[in-house]
Amino acid sequence: MSSSRVLVLNSGSSSVKYQLLDMRDSSRLAMGLVERIGEESSRLKHTPLASGGASREWTGPMADHEAALKAVSAELAKDGLGLDSPELAAIGHRVVHGGRHFTEPTVIDDAVLAEIERLIPVAPLHNPANLTGIRTARSLRPDLPQVAVFDTAFHTTMPESAARYAIDVETADRHRIRRYGFHGTSHAYVSRATAKLLGRAPEDVNVIVLHLGNGASASAVRGGRCVDTSMGLTPLEGLVMGTRSGDMDPAVIFHLMRVGEMSTDEIDTLLNKKSGLIGLCGDNDMREIRRRIDEGDQRAALAFDIYIHRLKKYIGAYYAVLGKVDAIAFTAGVGENAAPVREAAVAGLEELGMVVDGELNAVRSDEPRLISPGHARVAVAVVPTDEELEIATQTYALVGRI
Ligand code: ADP
Repeated sequence: MSSSRVLVLNSGSSSVKYQLLDMRDSSRLAMGLVERIGEESSRLKHTPLASGGASREWTGPMADHEAALKAVSAELAKDGLGLDSPELAAIGHRVVHGGRHFTEPTVIDDAVLAEIERLIPVAPLHNPANLTGIRTARSLRPDLPQVAVFDTAFHTTMPESAARYAIDVETADRHRIRRYGFHGTSHAYVSRATAKLLGRAPEDVNVIVLHLGNGASASAVRGGRCVDTSMGLTPLEGLVMGTRSGDMDPAVIFHLMRVGEMSTDEIDTLLNKKSGLIGLCGDNDMREIRRRIDEGDQRAALAFDIYIHRLKKYIGAYYAVLGKVDAIAFTAGVGENAAPVREAAVAGLEELGMVVDGELNAVRSDEPRLISPGHARVAVAVVPTDEELEIATQTYALVGRI
C-alpha cells in the first residue's frame, strides 16, 4: 500500500479528538481537539507534530461536526496533510458500543452504520455522536475506507458466566442486558504491551489490567483474551471513578426514587456525574486529592481509601478468576502517574506474590516499566496506554487486507 497515513477520529456529542499517524513507523504527524461544537465559541487546538511547529488555537462558531472536520482538514492542509491527501489510507473511528455483533474492527458500510444505530438504546450518549463523526467523515471522503474500532470488541471473548447478569433470562435478552465492558482498545493494547515487556507472547501470559483514568475499569486477560471486566451494560459499573459510583447495591436506585423522590434522569446524573471521587470529596483529580491528603484533609483521605479498597477487591477477584497471574498492569492518567495509588492498591498482597518496589515506583517515565522487585512472583508494571495508536494499527491492518 503506497498510502501510509491513518486519521483517527474520536467523536463526542460536542467534540472531536483526532490524531494523524504515519503507519510506516507509527509516528504521529498531528493531533488536536475541537470542543464546544454547535456553540458560538467552538475551539480548535491543533498541534502539527511532523513539522515541529507550535500548537495553533482558533475560537469561533462551528455549527456542526461537518464544520469541525472541515476546519481540522484546513489545519492539516497547512502542513500538506489535509483530508484530500492521497497519502491518507483510511480513517479509523472510535465507536463506543459494538454490542455482541462487532467482535473485531470493521470496515464501515451502510449495513454497519445501521447496526451501530441499532445499538443506540444501549449507548444513548455515545453511539449517536460516533455516528455523526462517521457520517461526516464519509461525506467528506466517500472514496476512502473508514473503519470502526469498538470499545467493546476486546471483551466479546468473555464467557457467559462473566458476561451474563443473574436476572431473568428472557427480560435480559429482550433488552440486550449483559456485561459488555468498555475501554477495550486500551485493555487490548496494554495487555499485549505487558507481555512484550515480560519478553513473552501474549498467548502465554495472564494479566490483570487496571485502566485508571477519569473513567476506570479492570480486566482479567487470559492468554491475550479477555475473560472478565468491571464495566457492564454501561460504563457505570465497577471501580470507583472520577465522577461515577461504580458498584453499589442496585436497590439504592429504588430507594432514591421512592424515598428521595428523585427522577430517573436525576439519579442518572447523580451516579454518572456527581459520584465517585467528586461525590466523596469534591475533587476528581487525583493530583488534587493527594495534595489535600498531604495537608491533612480527612474527606480526601476517605475518598482515596474507598477508591483503593475497591481496586484491591478487583485485583483479588481477578486473581481468583485467572487462577494464575503473571502480571498486573497500571495504565491511564491515574495508573501511569499516581505512584501512591499503585503502592496502596498492591499493599498487603505479598501472599499473592504482588509487591511494589518503592524506588522503582517513584520513577517517572513515559515508557512501559516494571515496578516490582526482580524476585516477585507477579510482575507489577506501569504501561502507558495508546488508544489512538491501537485504533490506527487495527485500521491499517484491516485496510491492508481489502
Ligand atoms: P480520561 O478518562 O479522561 O481519558 P485520563 O486517562 O487522561 O482520563 O486520566 C485523567 C486523570 O488522571 C485525571 O483526572 C487525574 O486524576 C489523573 N492524573 C493525571 N495526571 C496525574 C498525575 N501526574 N498524578 C496523579 N494523577 C494524575
